Parts: sequence; C-alpha cells; structure tokens
Amino acid sequence: MDLDQLWQSTLGEMEVQLSRANFATWLKQSRLINKKDGVFYVALPNNFAKEWVESKYQKNILGILRRHDDSVKKIEFIIGGQKLPIEKERVILTASDIQKLEGMELEFKTDPETNLNPRYTLSSFVVGPSNELAFAAASAITQQIGKYNPFFIYGGVGLGKTHLIQAIGNEIMAKYNKKIRPKYVPSEQFTRDIIWGIRNDRIESVKKKYRDVDVLIIDDIQFIGGKEKTEEEFFHTFNALYENNKQIIISSDRPPQAIPTLEERLRSRFEGGFVADISYPEYEMRVAIVRSKLNEVNKTLDEAIIELIARRLKKNIRELEGVLKKILFYQEQKNTEISPKTAEDIIEKATQNVGKRVNEANVLKAVAEFFNITTEDIISRNRRKEIVEPRQIAMYLLREICDLSYPYIGEKMGRDHTTAIHSYEKINNEINHNPGLNQKILMIKDILFKN
Ligand code: ADP
Ligand code: MG
Repeated sequence: MDLDQLWQSTLGEMEVQLSRANFATWLKQSRLINKKDGVFYVALPNNFAKEWVESKYQKNILGILRRHDDSVKKIEFIIGGQKLPIEKERVILTASDIQKLEGMELEFKTDPETNLNPRYTLSSFVVGPSNELAFAAASAITQQIGKYNPFFIYGGVGLGKTHLIQAIGNEIMAKYNKKIRPKYVPSEQFTRDIIWGIRNDRIESVKKKYRDVDVLIIDDIQFIGGKEKTEEEFFHTFNALYENNKQIIISSDRPPQAIPTLEERLRSRFEGGFVADISYPEYEMRVAIVRSKLNEVNKTLDEAIIELIARRLKKNIRELEGVLKKILFYQEQKNTEISPKTAEDIIEKATQNVGKRVNEANVLKAVAEFFNITTEDIISRNRRKEIVEPRQIAMYLLREICDLSYPYIGEKMGRDHTTAIHSYEKINNEINHNPGLNQKILMIKDILFKN
C-alpha cells in the first residue's frame, strides 16, 4: 500500500467515527506525506487544525494506521504549505448581482408541524471552544431527553443559537422516529398565539397545543419579558410541561439574570436548569466554519481567501456566511479565481455597515429624507400612496436592519403587529421582482450608513 492509499483507508475509517462537519473541517484536507523510521508525517492546512487533530484524534488515527502498517511508532503532524493566488482586477458586486445571489439561496422546507428547519443539524454545527459546552449539553439532551431541564442557551446575534436548538429538535425527530414530538417556536409567535387565544376566547386550546408537545423549543425568549399576560401564560405552560418531565429548551441573547423584565419566578426556573453560553468564535474556529460551509456546497477557495474571511468577520457567523456566499458567487459569475484584493473589496462593502448602531429614529429619518416627507408623515394614518410606500419600507428596514420584533415595530408605528408583518413581507417579496424598489432601498441604506 502506498502512502496515499494507506491514508485514504485511514481517513475512511475516521470518517465513520466523526460527524460530517468535524471530518470535513479537521481531516478532509490532511495528507500523509512521508514515513521514516516509524514516524508518519501527516500534513494539515494550519496550526489550529494541527493542534486540534493532535489533541483529539491522534490516538484514534494511530490505532487505525497501526492495523494497516505495523511499522508505525508515532505520528508527527506538520503544517502543509499553501500556494498564493494571482492578483486579479478589483470588481465589486452590483445591486443586481446581490439580488441574483439572494434568489439563489438553497431552499429548505420548514416542517409545518414541528416548525423545524431541516438545514439545522448537529453534524453541520462546527464545534470549538466558544460553543463546546452548549454543544455537549445539546448532544446529551438528544441522548437522554430531560437530562438538562430546562436547557437555557444564550449568546450574541448570529452565533448559532437558533442553529443549535433547532438541531436538537431535528436530531430528536430522526432518532426517535417521530415518536417524540418537538416543537420550535420563536417567542414572538408564542406571544402572538397567546394574544390570539385571549382575544378569541380560545386560550385553553392554545395552551393545549403547547402542552401536547414533548420537547418545547423557544427561541429568543428575551422578547417575552415584560408582557404580563403572555409571561403568565408562559409560566403556566412551562410549569405544566416541566412537571410532566417534558424537555424545555430556551434561547436568549443574554443570560436569565440580565433579562430585567422577566418575572422573578420564571428567571429562577431558568437558572435552576442548565445554562450555557455561546461566545465569539476565535480565529481558528472561524476558519473551520468557512471550511465547513465550503464543504457543504462542494466548493473550494484558496487558503489565503479563507483566512482573509476568517480574519475580517469576527462577531457574527451569519455575516461570515453572507460574505462567503458573495465571494463564491463572484467567482462563479466571473469564472476566475478571486484575488485577495477583490475579496477584500467585497468584505469591505459587506461589513461597512457592521458595528455601526442604527436606531429606529435614524431609519425613519433616512426614509423621510429619501422620499422628501416628514417622519410624522410616516407614522401618521395618511393612506396616500406617496406615504404608504415609505411607511412599508420603513417597517421593512426596522425589521431588516434593526432586527426589531414585529410587535415592537407595530407599536412604534402606531399599528398592529400584523400590519408590520404584512409590510415586511410585501417589501421583502417585491424587492425580488421590482428593481426600482430594490434601488430605492439601496439608496436609503446609503443615506443611513454614509455618516
Ligand atoms: P443566532 O440564532 O445565534 O442569531 P443562528 O443560529 O441563526 O444564530 O446562526 C447564524 C448562521 O450561522 C446560521 O446560518 C448558522 O447555520 C451559522 N452557524 C452559527 N454557528 C455555527 C457553527 N458553529 N457551525 C456552523 N454554522 C454555524
Ligand atoms: Mg436566532
């Protein structure tokens, strides 16, 4: 057996032991490059992979190698050299490129019954120091439902909370052959359901709907705090489930004790369970995530570009994914390898808005400025077309840019949350078919972010 064959069969055995993401991230790019005096030299793409593989997989690999070749005494991991890309011209994506790109999104269907999106799996979740604990607890729960109850997970925007909690649900669905019913619900939807139940005298059937599930997964619980009636209902539902040993999984952007409006008894319930946080991924982990995402779509990128993306996008994995998509899209469109300079330009363009806090007032002002009306017009009850469109765009942007909840947007605009949902969805759909509208929105964003 030559070195390549030997390594391929070793990798083949490792592959069945590891999750898809872990294998792709840590081992897929490894090579067995030499053996000398019983020392086998394995090349890995970077230092982080080297350290990770060394500490986590060395023993396994050694065992497998030994079965194939009993001359092996030890493994030396080394970092493989990388070729540098050639410089190419600087080009930036146009608005219509971005439109195309957004239309290209892989479609996954949310299961109407569980509300779970199958794209979120445990095996596609890259694990590193920033999320290791949360991941371990999540996996443990899928092995033994109720093990950590409630399971409360918190962390900043775009760091994988939704991914992880939905992955628990998906894993349970797969594992228990649909005998155990999970249900995923964003806290805003939970609130909507309860309000609907109260208004229509159907609160009992709403409660029953929730109490009938085996694993209740509530996303972004911070939006519940402060709404007395829903909090009260939530508490009752929570207790009913808890007392029946049902698993409850909750996410939030902050720890329980930092949700000021949360009622004390609810908070102490949360704190009484298992609380894990997800923090910012460090550089090596970001590299690993880029690799894993590339692997998912069966694409490759030059090492220098991968590292560039990981260096520049530090605080939000969703943004990192967005930039990666843009770069891949660019490559496909131009049918060339992207240069680091061009990649840098794309990153620059994609991140210039990041870190800049845009508040509601700014959004309303920018929309008003663009349409040459006043912010009072926007929130007025005026139904004239010249006012209705800016109003809908304002609600769209409040959701899109400020990430505000529909009830909150509705309240700010003196309207119902359903109006906010409708406006957001209308604009969000139309933007794909109406270049004029898209252009307007881009220009408003320019106003917003220019100073
Ligand atoms: P949050 O709910 O914390 O705002 P999400 O779960 O929506 O964040 O994650 C944002 C994006 O980043 C999603 O597309 C998700 O798949 C991806 N993501 C986050 N963490 C990881 C990870 N550890 N491995 C792979 N993808 C991740
Ligand atoms: Mg989320």
